[in-house]
Order: sequence, then C-alpha cells, then structure tokens
Amino acid sequence: MTADSRIENPRMRVLQLLRQKGPLAKIQIAGELAISPALAGLICKEFLQMGVVTVAGTGESAGGRRPTLLQLNELSNVVVGCDLGVTHVTSVLTNLHGRVIERCRIETDPRDDSGTTLRHIQESIQDVISRAGLPTASILGIGLSVPGLIDLPVGVSVLAPNLPNWKNIPIVRLVKESFGIPVSIINDAWALALGEHWFGAGRGHQDLVAVNIGHGIGAGIILDGRLYSRGIGGCGEIGHVTVNENGPRCPCGSNGCLELMASGPAISARAIQAISSAVPTSLETLSGGHPLKVNARMVAEAADRGDDVATAILADAGRYVGIAVAMVVNLLSPEMVILGGGVARSGAAFFDVVCATVERRAYTTIVNKPEIVLSELEDDASVLGAVALVLERAFRSPDSLFHASA
Ligand SMILES: [Zn+2]
Repeated sequence: MTADSRIENPRMRVLQLLRQKGPLAKIQIAGELAISPALAGLICKEFLQMGVVTVAGTGESAGGRRPTLLQLNELSNVVVGCDLGVTHVTSVLTNLHGRVIERCRIETDPRDDSGTTLRHIQESIQDVISRAGLPTASILGIGLSVPGLIDLPVGVSVLAPNLPNWKNIPIVRLVKESFGIPVSIINDAWALALGEHWFGAGRGHQDLVAVNIGHGIGAGIILDGRLYSRGIGGCGEIGHVTVNENGPRCPCGSNGCLELMASGPAISARAIQAISSAVPTSLETLSGGHPLKVNARMVAEAADRGDDVATAILADAGRYVGIAVAMVVNLLSPEMVILGGGVARSGAAFFDVVCATVERRAYTTIVNKPEIVLSELEDDASVLGAVALVLERAFRSPDSLFHASA
C-alpha cells in the first residue's frame, strides 16, 4: 500500500497525483487512484473553476475524442521558505513543484544579536516576495527552518547551540505579524528530511532518515510518508547520542556525544591538534600558515589528495556517524538513509567508512539493507524542506489552496 492510498481525501490525492505525475487526463487520474471517472471528473471541474488546475493540452486518443490533459496551475499558489543557518539566512519563493522563482541569501555572523538575526530573516523573506511581485493572497504560507530545539505548539525557537544569542524567540508569531501569512516551523534536520522526501533523493520512499552533519548534527525521520515530529519537537537529536562513553563533556550534560566527535567543528579541532603536534600533513600548507583557520572542508580537500592525517580524521568521524546511524537503522529499519550537510560531502574517506560501519554494526541489515545516499539538494535541502512543510499542510487540506488562490 502506498502512503497516498492510505489518505482518505480524494481531492488531496488528485492534487498529489497531478503534482507528481501531471499532466494527466481525467480517466488516467481515476485509474491511478482507483476512484470512479465521475468522481475524478467532478473534482477536476472544481479545481479548474478554482484556478488550482489548468488545461495542458490534449493527450493521445484511445479510439475516441482526444482527452484533455490537466496540470497543476504552477502560479495559482506560491510558497516561501526561509532557512536560518549558522553563517547565512536563505529565503526562496517557489511554485507548487518546489521550483525556485526568487532567492535571497544574506551572509550573517553567528554572534549577531537576536534582533539582527530576526531582521535578516524578515528582510530576506520581504525581498523574495517583493521581487516576485505576486499578490500576498497567492502566497500559501511561509515555512521556517531553524537549527536547534523548537517548542512546536507555540512556535518558539528555544535555543540554537551554534547561535549563542538566539534564545526563546517567538519566531512564528513575529514573522506572521510582519507578513500576515500563515507561518510553519521545523528544525533544519527535519527540513532536510522533508526536502529530500519531496524533491530530492528520497522521492518515492515512504520511510527514510536524513542526517544533517554540519556545524551541528541532527536527524529528520519520515515514517509512512510523513515527518515524525511528535508534535512537541525535540526528536531526532542524533547529535547527542553517546558514541564514545569516555569522550569529552558535551554542553548538553552528557559525554562523547556524536556532535563532539564528527561535526564540522570537531573535525577542524582534530586537524588543528594534528598540525600542532608536528605530524607531517599538508593541512598546514592548506591553512596558509594559520592552523586555527583549518576547517572541515580543508580536511576533505587534503584527504582527497591522499593526505594520511586528513584521511584518518575523516575515517574516525565516519566511524562515529556509522555507529549512530547503525543504532537508528536497528530501531527503525528505514528504506533509505540520506546524509546531508557540509561534512557529508567530505568524499569517500568519510562516506565509505559510514557505509561500512553501518553494514558491520546494524543487525537488521540482514533482512533490510537501507540505501545510504548523499543529499541531492545539498545547500538547498533545508530551505526546500521549509517549502515542503507548507505544501504538506496545504495538500493535506486542499481548502487552504482554494482559500489562498481565491
Ligand atoms: Zn550532547
């Protein structure tokens, strides 16, 4: 059974089908969804009148009249997504297929005060809306992707460990007040999972886990085609799973958390340590004689050129990620594990070790070996996940589409 067939609302299923496989004739819609041609016709007529669907031409004749093909009206509704990163704020305005129409990226400083960060968020959203020149009524919603812990029921960004001045921000209310448009929020790792599920490597997969490995480490879980969010936030914190019992103390109160062993800052700390201990490595040259400036990207570059020290640092990080992913695989047995974030793109020295460690450690791979892949959307994964969050809500209650386009 697919996730779509479990969903009761036939109007929503028609919209989803047109989004995924359109343009289609009414008779194809009826066949794909196993509903009567009369019901498919009624729903399509309603959508055409509302402007949510348009005629895309005519299809091949099966003997009689050539059938009219229908498609989603791409501009009947648009969506805004905004991703708050550690060093940037990115907003996009997309159509219902997630195609980016406008984009705005503002470089930021992690030490910015919360007022400045909030202003960057609002400016970037305002910029994409202004440049699109579309009426506010056609904007279905604004999706926000923010790092760290979120109190979902009240829409408060509680804390983001890599943004020290960003605490207890009622961001959903503030953005809603500024733009008068519905606002939804999730954390960046959940957004990665949702973005890949809708538009990237996870398309067509109903159960997947996406792990975001960058400044911090977090995971988003899609089960039965839906984001597992527990309603209150605070799940998917794979970065605070213990992978080294005797490891360093974590600000969360535990020891040897994955984030301390395999995040971008953890990798650069290991590299700085290696340079200062005078082990021969090309990292020193790559840093331009400033060892403190070595980052995870330079370590990946050095490993790619065959530097043994860099390769060993990435292999260690990959092993720790593999240990944590193996735990998740044993618990959930997903069809797919997607690795995203800057560290995930460190090359074979990292990725191959993650895969080998999961293979060796996860018991359930005997019966279900999940595909382990890299994020397809790369830097856009979280911002498109924020877009997908708005679309997911809209497609599950199509009345909001009608409302926004009316
Ligand atoms: Zn921790």
